[in-house]
Amino acid sequence: MPNPLPVPQPDHSKTFSSPVSKLEWIPLTSLEKMSQTEYDVLIAGTGAGGGAVLWRLCQQWGNNGKKIGVVEAGDLLLPTNLMNVQTMNHLDYLDIAYNDPQFAIPIPGTKLRQVIALGGRTLKWSVVSPRMYAAVASRDWPVPEREMELYYSIAEQAMGVTDYYTKGSPINEIFLNRLWSSEYAEAMNEPMAADLEPTKYGEIHSNVFFSSIAFLAQALNPRPYDLAVLARAVRVITERGRARGLQVMTPDKRSFELKAKNVVLCASTIETPRILYHSGIRGRAIGHYLTNHSYAIGKATFNHKDYPYVLGTIGILIPETGERPFQVQIGGPNGYRFYHDTQTPFKEQLEMNIAGVGNVESRFENQILFNPNVRNEYGMPEAQVQLTYSDADLAVLGLAEEAVKHVSSILQTPMVSLNLQEALAGDHESGTCRMGRDPDTSGTNPYGQVHGISGLYVADNSVLPFLGAANPTLTTVALAMRTADYIIRSSM
Ligand SMILES: Cc1cc2nc3c(=O)[nH]c(=O)nc-3n(C[C@H](O)[C@H](O)[C@H](O)COP(=O)(O)OP(=O)(O)OC[C@H]3O[C@@H](n4cnc5c(N)ncnc54)[C@H](O)[C@@H]3O)c2cc1C
Repeated sequence: MPNPLPVPQPDHSKTFSSPVSKLEWIPLTSLEKMSQTEYDVLIAGTGAGGGAVLWRLCQQWGNNGKKIGVVEAGDLLLPTNLMNVQTMNHLDYLDIAYNDPQFAIPIPGTKLRQVIALGGRTLKWSVVSPRMYAAVASRDWPVPEREMELYYSIAEQAMGVTDYYTKGSPINEIFLNRLWSSEYAEAMNEPMAADLEPTKYGEIHSNVFFSSIAFLAQALNPRPYDLAVLARAVRVITERGRARGLQVMTPDKRSFELKAKNVVLCASTIETPRILYHSGIRGRAIGHYLTNHSYAIGKATFNHKDYPYVLGTIGILIPETGERPFQVQIGGPNGYRFYHDTQTPFKEQLEMNIAGVGNVESRFENQILFNPNVRNEYGMPEAQVQLTYSDADLAVLGLAEEAVKHVSSILQTPMVSLNLQEALAGDHESGTCRMGRDPDTSGTNPYGQVHGISGLYVADNSVLPFLGAANPTLTTVALAMRTADYIIRSSM
């Protein structure tokens, strides 16, 4: 018998929309509201540098009535580092980190990638956090060694930098002993920004791998601040040689003028000089002295049955020294590095990475060129990145490559492949607003203040005067905290 009731048919003409609204997991303020406030400090960008400036200002100022605003071009993407996401063992973490369109926005003409989101690239960085040899050993470094030591200590404490992550790991101990018995007496457990504290008194330490979301969260504890996402800084507003605020645009191209006594640009190496250029601020060195790391990336192999059943994880650093203008990072076993993979049975033949990371000179010719005739959707000039290796850079890369082969033989882990990465790739681009005393060769003074404009600061990878061979972020964070202290002193 036919059913007398009509059977409801799905309506395919309507697109599906989730009934679950997006969770705002951090307090947000609208740009309409922010445009009615005059801020004591306005920060653009929330990656390593922006998060560090905010954290330090909030910790030092407490709830003293000063007004702090933050604008971030991206949206809320992830409230933690990708490596903390427990389901990552069922996904290809590296593929997401390097290819997902939300976690890797290409910079045209290069293999460089940005993350435009709250937290910036710290949402996917690998947390390796050594001090930079050049920052404490070079006479040309613009910050006194004693101050670097102080701010390194503050930064390490705030980010939870520890060498304990791989300490005691059986395979790490075996490899370290092999390196120590040869010429690598300085080989050490890799310093990592990893919170390994146990939970106590209800204080939960579950966010192991650091991201600047931790800075943003901790900054809220002593005091509130205003934060707008989807708010892109496009121009610094200046008046008679002084910063007065920022022009900010939304993705639907509404424009707001935010007033501030101090502006801190933390949009990183490509975007920060672009904002300065678009604002008519043109120091001779701004956009120049672009540097990055050169890489000799080796894959080596070993057999599990030659080692203890419980292998542990590998994280070893052979640091840069006066005689060694590169560092070597040894990590693995690949696919098991962070032990998210406890369900996956171990393979017998395992792979690991041995990477030689070379120092690339800071040279005026390596630069970002801005083309005022070609503009993006926000009316900002197109950025063309130009970076080539000098003969000295190639010589360092050659040494790093030899060291990778040598380390592989000392560790008794035969090489499977060894590739040299091209210049316009990698994740450590820096230097385009480098700190220094001379405006001819630097974009900012030794406190991060843009030469000639009071109240305007830069605090991100672009201020690094040199890169050396160490991973840059700890140094950027240390310098950003020092810039925050300078702003506090200047605001008294
Ligand atoms: C896969 C990967 C692994 C890495 N591993 C390490 C590591 O182990 N150790 C290490 O030291 N470093 C590592 N890095 C590098 C590290 O992520 C960067 O050094 C660090 O994040 C740079 O900080 P930053 O503040 O300069 O830039 P970012 O962290 O990129 O932050 C820039 C911020 O500015 C925002 N922004 C951009 N334009 C605007 C605008 N116009 N207005 C407002 N906001 C804007 C962005 O959305 C972002 O929030 C890694 C990077 C990647 C990609």
